[in-house]
Amino acid sequence: MRFVVVGGGVAGVCCAEELCRVRPQDSVTLVAADRVLKGVSVVVRLSRTLEELALVERRLDELPWPNLQMVQGVAAGIDAEGKELLLGDGRRLPYDKLCICAGARPKQLPPTAFHARPAPGLSEAEAEAERQRQEAELRRRVLTIRDTDSVQRLAARLRGARRVAVVGNGGIALELISGLQGKDVTWIMRHAHIGDAYFDLDAAQFLLEELQQQREQQAQQVAGAQQQQQQEQKQEQLPPSPQEQQQEQGRRQPSDASLANGAGSEDNCGSGKVLGHAVGPRWVQQLLPAAVAAEGGTAEEDSSAVGRVDLEYGCEVACIELIQEGGQPQQQPRQPPGDGDSPSQRGGQPPLLLTLTSGKKVEADLVLLAIGVTPALDWVPPCVERAPDGGLKLNRHMQSSDPAIYAAGDSASCSWAAGESSHWFQMRLWSQARSMGIYAAHCMAGVQEQASSSAPPHMHMGADMAFELFTHVTRFLGRKVVLLGLYNGQRLQHEPASDMATYSRVTEGPERTFVRVLLLRGRVQGVVLIGDTELEETFENLILDQLDVSQYGPALLDPDFELDHVFD
Ligand SMILES: Cc1cc2nc3c(=O)[nH]c(=O)nc-3n(C[C@H](O)[C@H](O)[C@H](O)COP(=O)(O)OP(=O)(O)OC[C@H]3O[C@@H](n4cnc5c(N)ncnc54)[C@H](O)[C@@H]3O)c2cc1C
Repeated sequence: MRFVVVGGGVAGVCCAEELCRVRPQDSVTLVAADRVLKGVSVVVRLSRTLEELALVERRLDELPWPNLQMVQGVAAGIDAEGKELLLGDGRRLPYDKLCICAGARPKQLPPTAFHARPAPGLSEAEAEAERQRQEAELRRRVLTIRDTDSVQRLAARLRGARRVAVVGNGGIALELISGLQGKDVTWIMRHAHIGDAYFDLDAAQFLLEELQQQREQQAQQVAGAQQQQQQEQKQEQLPPSPQEQQQEQGRRQPSDASLANGAGSEDNCGSGKVLGHAVGPRWVQQLLPAAVAAEGGTAEEDSSAVGRVDLEYGCEVACIELIQEGGQPQQQPRQPPGDGDSPSQRGGQPPLLLTLTSGKKVEADLVLLAIGVTPALDWVPPCVERAPDGGLKLNRHMQSSDPAIYAAGDSASCSWAAGESSHWFQMRLWSQARSMGIYAAHCMAGVQEQASSSAPPHMHMGADMAFELFTHVTRFLGRKVVLLGLYNGQRLQHEPASDMATYSRVTEGPERTFVRVLLLRGRVQGVVLIGDTELEETFENLILDQLDVSQYGPALLDPDFELDHVFD
């Protein structure tokens, strides 16, 4: 049997590795566009179904399976009848079963959103050249994020930006906001509250308060640091007393000596090799230090200004243009086109003007677009059926409309989920890319679910279990967030409102926590936990067991209530 897998992301790597493991006698080919693969490296198990993943980058030649063949190339088409994968360089790879794990691309603004306005009085050719220049400049300053490169690009651009517009309201937008400290942010979303895909109004309100608190704390820290700096500057202006001179000499001597011994040197790399980072769970933390490092500053310098966050609810970006100077369009570039922004270029950069569908106008230096993703399937022939979200429409066995073609991860659309998994639904996440990749491998290999003890730790989780309950652990605005089951009423829209109940609680303390639970006819359907609540396992069991807890009412969330007694 010849298995071919396309895509070097989490889904493709997990699928190819699992195929190698369960079918060691068969040939497995992994086609990856890049020399660097993205894999799951560490798993922290928080409960039976809830795991915190860490991602690492691995080189193409590092996967240790004897029956695995790596092919670096770009899939450009499929000869479905002849069962051959066509590569961009003309190579053809025959397959018996093919799995498409090509991921997704960030959605972009439509071309009509970029408004260039050449000055009146230009010749036709000049006006066209000016239009092209302005459009190129506008596109250069509207960034999306997908991979490590794009995070680094964003970090470099942030250094030159004071006002940033963030467009979107999903997980990426939520994380971005906490990575933009020191910037004035306008957060533009079409929904009525933040994190609409994740939270209801209560949870969103809790997170907004957290954001406010974070920024206030930063402001206090900055004010304190500035005061200290001013005092130090004053002291520096006075000549040191003989006593101070003596003390200073005393302070210097031991440190000079320790440096001579090497005791004061830093070993940032430890003993391991330093590799580049994947866009892993902590990708947002790369933004600020990378932005500062790009120009040789320090993180403290960059956080010296505490920016504000303005929220624009219920609207989208209608158009973006360059702000005209003195009412006139710019006719000459104020800076040479290029990828990096040097300080001198930055100074002359014209601001952007965003017109929102609400009619409001917003100024920004940079626009960060996080409005969702589209499966990267333009190379897959249309005879392989798509779902409404653009992913390959799959049956319960991860098969597309062509029985020899499977899919997993962001390219896939699990159309079966609504009917067969009562508390699971698809969301484009690392954890799901991993379990889909492994499960697709089982389906392709025709093996039953087998989480054998020989499997590496990141493959232990059974696929059936993975599709039983939606689980996601992440961090928003620096807080741990656990989402379980139909936490936001997903797929319960048809149920009578009178059968549903939600209870929530906020626990004050040095670390505030938030819990919200959603019940249908007295049975827990979903939960949102923010902060360290240590309730994930209990609620996981309540959802899986579907115990009737209606007798407890809101007391279910009383901090003094012994939740474990419910199971007695
Ligand atoms: C900025 C950002 C933050 C995120 N944060 C989170 C988070 O906090 N938690 C979470 O769970 N998820 C998060 N996600 C989502 C998560 O990254 C995806 O769901 C997951 O990576 C999907 O894995 P995949 O293997 O399907 O696709 P990808 O990781 O996109 O991999 C697809 C691979 O296919 C390759 N490829 C594409 N086309 C071809 C072709 N024609 N030929 C050959 N190779 C091809 C690509 O080069 C790539 O290597 C985030 C995503 C982004 C962009």
